[in-house]
Amino acid sequence: MSIKNVTVAGSGVLGAQIALQSAYHGFNVTVYDISDDILTRAKATFERIAEAYRSDLRASQASIDAAFARLSYSADLATAVQDADLLIEAIPENPAIKTEFYQKLAAVAPEKTIFATNTSTLLPSMFAAATGRPEKFLALHFANEIWKHNTAEIMGHAETDKAVFDTIVAFAKDIGMIALPLHKEQPAYILNSLLVPLLSAASALWANGVADPETIDKTWMAATGAPTGPFGMLDVVGLTTAYNINKMAAEAHPDPLKLKIVELLKGMIDEGKSGVASGKGFYTYPDPAYKAPDFLK
Ligand code: NAD
Repeated sequence: MSIKNVTVAGSGVLGAQIALQSAYHGFNVTVYDISDDILTRAKATFERIAEAYRSDLRASQASIDAAFARLSYSADLATAVQDADLLIEAIPENPAIKTEFYQKLAAVAPEKTIFATNTSTLLPSMFAAATGRPEKFLALHFANEIWKHNTAEIMGHAETDKAVFDTIVAFAKDIGMIALPLHKEQPAYILNSLLVPLLSAASALWANGVADPETIDKTWMAATGAPTGPFGMLDVVGLTTAYNINKMAAEAHPDPLKLKIVELLKGMIDEGKSGVASGKGFYTYPDPAYKAPDFLK
């Protein structure tokens, strides 16, 4: 199985990044979204991402021009996948939207096309039946800013064909990713299985009044050598995402500590402290205190 033609469904935050990263590494990429207007907006997104390739990767203008020349666009699903070896789905994190999308896709995609979902929190087995080709379906999960944070977690479900899995591991490497194969389905993959409990534990220490965020970060950074502590990481993730995750957890299993975390995060968001993107969170940006040379003194 060899991949040459890639279709990316969804041209939002992650879809645009996946499309440009694949084109930059020599693949022919068709970008699919639900309307021509949205695809026009995606072109502006590609220009912005290309700026980051210039500054972060020192990408040459010639390599960026070549990547753009490999991109094409279609708001018609059958046209968008007509010669796809691989379709990467990066549409909203909503099971009903994804199920309907896979049903429509199954009806028009050629038999050869492998389908990969970039879902963050759902499992491929939830959509395997809707794809009509469970053996050619798996998850290929990227992180935001994939040109810098180049992890690709590859996770099949029970019926994924081994050769398909291996093809996607190879593809991930071919587009400059560190390929991270998972041997079985795991909600939240490897990264968030590690990160979410760490961030929750830190938030619980804070909400319970055990220590303040800076002290908790200092503890983690000094003891493990990590360059950032959990509250520095929460600022990067964004407090709104953290709030939504904690709110869902508090609604599923109400307990006073979780409710307190939700209340504290909401208070900060209401004050405009929603993390790096807003310039303020637990720290103030662009020069957060934890990056100062004397932070661990
Ligand atoms: P987004 O909201 O930025 O983009 C979603 C895109 O999908 C939009 O362009 C929208 O027009 C399009 N869309 C909506 N319905 C569609 C349909 N039926 N068919 C085709 N396109 C459709 O979302 P995002 O942040 O890029 O997330 C997309 C997926 O990637 C989600 O599954 C998410 O969990 C995952 N993901 C996101 C991040 C992140 O940091 N944002 C990181 C890793 C994975």
